[in-house]
Amino acid sequence: KLHNTILELKGNIRVFCRVRPLLLDEGVDNETKIISFPTTIETLGRGIELVQHGQSHPFMFDKVFTPQSSQEEVFVEISQLVQSALDGYKVCIFAYGQTGSGKTHTMMGTPGSYDEKGLIPRSLEQIFESRQKLLEQGWKYEMQVSMLEIYNENIRDLLSSNKACSTDSGNKQYAIKHDANGNTNVSDLTIVDVRSSREVSFLLNRAAQSRSVGKTQMNEQSSRSHFVFTLRISGVNESMEQHVQGVLNLIDLAGSERLSKSGSTGDRLKETQAINKSLSSLSDVIFALAKKEEHIPFRNSKLTYLLQPCLGGDSKTLMVVNVSPAPSSVNESLCSLRFAARVN
Ligand code: ADP
Ligand code: MG
Repeated sequence: KLHNTILELKGNIRVFCRVRPLLLDEGVDNETKIISFPTTIETLGRGIELVQHGQSHPFMFDKVFTPQSSQEEVFVEISQLVQSALDGYKVCIFAYGQTGSGKTHTMMGTPGSYDEKGLIPRSLEQIFESRQKLLEQGWKYEMQVSMLEIYNENIRDLLSSNKACSTDSGNKQYAIKHDANGNTNVSDLTIVDVRSSREVSFLLNRAAQSRSVGKTQMNEQSSRSHFVFTLRISGVNESMEQHVQGVLNLIDLAGSERLSKSGSTGDRLKETQAINKSLSSLSDVIFALAKKEEHIPFRNSKLTYLLQPCLGGDSKTLMVVNVSPAPSSVNESLCSLRFAARVN
């Protein structure tokens, strides 16, 4: 039996799964292999099977990437989605999975490296290249970038030059408002006009530094917070009298591991609760959208409320579920696959 609830519901929601390679210190033991990729006609490139305690759990997604899949191969499958932001669509691409499963590798990769750079730098290169081509057809685009982190249900501006403000956990200054045109405004959030992918790379570096400052202060905050990269695209074609407004959101989610069992207390417990709450809200929202329910519970978390205009309607959503093949992670991997298939 295949757990493919989301697939049957389709709509504008896609779910990809990516299994990273075993790392060096995780061994190369084929006897303890917990993940395989079935190769029947129906499942080729879409099926994944995980064995836990001798029991097999098959899943099917829109696309499954194996440990051999390159960054380029993953990007090829999302490039159309990225392109649609230039056509005026609102797009969200999420990386979901436990800490160490490959979310940041998928999203950022190794930014300077031609082969190993991830979806964010590749998307930006594509967008700015396309913009150049569309210019010849009379399209003029303006692009704006913001980057923020949601930690313990608080927003942190990663591009703020004001350190005092950016580390302030009091949240009043980052109030989220949506207007009637479906635009989101986070008050006091730094928004930067960008003209090239190099300018965005520069900002990504700045954001990474801003995140790592928090990291030393707050116990690996980066894996305990959601990173939200937003590119707003506004295009005008005067001769065609057309105007489009697209948004591309690329989100590196907080680690999905259940920490409660490891006896977390105090701040750690609060973090865990905030993460559990926002990840389950995200799943609730996506599921409610897929089922075309009347009430979509956007307001249950900062993340879903922030992204509300970019989820549902004619917007497009892709969830990339990252999975570790390490036998020691088998329980978490099963949880992630179930989250993705929404049968938990
Ligand atoms: P996460 O962001 O989910 O915590 P990372 O992206 O940091 O996980 O990945 C954990 C480790 O695995 C890193 O050392 C990363 O370089 C490596 N890794 C993840 N995915 C891949 C992949 N597809 N190919 C090679 N190495 C990978
Ligand atoms: Mg990470």
